[in-house]
Amino acid sequence: MPYMACTVPELPQLRLLIAAPRGFCAGVDRAIQIVELALERFGAPVYVRHEIVHNRFVVDRLRELGAVFVDELDEVPDDRPVVFSAHGVPKSVPSAAQARGLTYVDATCPLVSKVHRQAERLIEEGRHILFIGHAGHPEVIGTFGQVPKGSISLVETVEDAEQVSVPAEANLAFLTQTTLSVDDTAQIVEALKARFPAIRAPRSEDICYATSNRQAAVKAIAGECDRLLVIGAPNSSNSLRLAEVAERMGVPARLIERASDIDWDWVGQPATLGRTAGASAPEVLVREVVDALRSRFDVTEEIADHSPERMIFKLPRELLPDRAA
Ligand code: SF4
Repeated sequence: MPYMACTVPELPQLRLLIAAPRGFCAGVDRAIQIVELALERFGAPVYVRHEIVHNRFVVDRLRELGAVFVDELDEVPDDRPVVFSAHGVPKSVPSAAQARGLTYVDATCPLVSKVHRQAERLIEEGRHILFIGHAGHPEVIGTFGQVPKGSISLVETVEDAEQVSVPAEANLAFLTQTTLSVDDTAQIVEALKARFPAIRAPRSEDICYATSNRQAAVKAIAGECDRLLVIGAPNSSNSLRLAEVAERMGVPARLIERASDIDWDWVGQPATLGRTAGASAPEVLVREVVDALRSRFDVTEEIADHSPERMIFKLPRELLPDRAA
């Protein structure tokens, strides 16, 4: 039998430009560690009010370890501990937990807590707060729940800023959600300042370092990309903003949760594909997407390191091993 040469078709070349920083931020990392430590300290099940962070993969892994995710506190049995999510909770939630004698651990990101404390101080100073954020987001619900009803108004858009009604003669201040679009927020703030020149701005930026760094990293690579894939959940505010940043620069972008979500027709045959991940997306999902791309392309990976991050947040003392009873 004559020898038959068999040629494997060559895969098309693909330059994969990976944005950095991307993926987990210090607040998400801390929240996940809090659930893991609570499971070690108290044993399973540990209840978690709401998704600890907006990522199904993370939530499913913690569920396998013994976490039980619930919507409200009344679903938590009296004898089990409960963790509050990284997005923060209204004051009424820890109060209700205390009233029931529940053991609870607050995984609210310290940068969200900082906004909570600012809101309280502004109310003590007799100010009315205009809060820039997205209606219904857990962080917004948590921040509104720090101050008396009617003392804070939501502003979602420039049009809202131009039309929002405020109490007559009110001393105004504004605060923002931590995971907003840097550019959109700047426009909304400009509109607020034009309408209310005396409005008090936060002492420092409320949009967190992780959100602004990830948006800046996308801006840094977008000009070189034909398309951009963002790994993140559809309910993750900071992930959605990353896709928006690219689209606004004229680069088609898609938000996917996992490699199985890739729409290969949409990907097509780009020369350069950009890739990033929202603050609640683990690196393992980034690698999963790279592996999927390698099955169809001859991939050359490049990391575009925009601004290295070294932020770490302390864990609650009561969960640290040497503090355990
Ligand atoms: S995105 Fe920012 S505010 Fe949200 S958990 Fe991460 S560091 Fe904290």
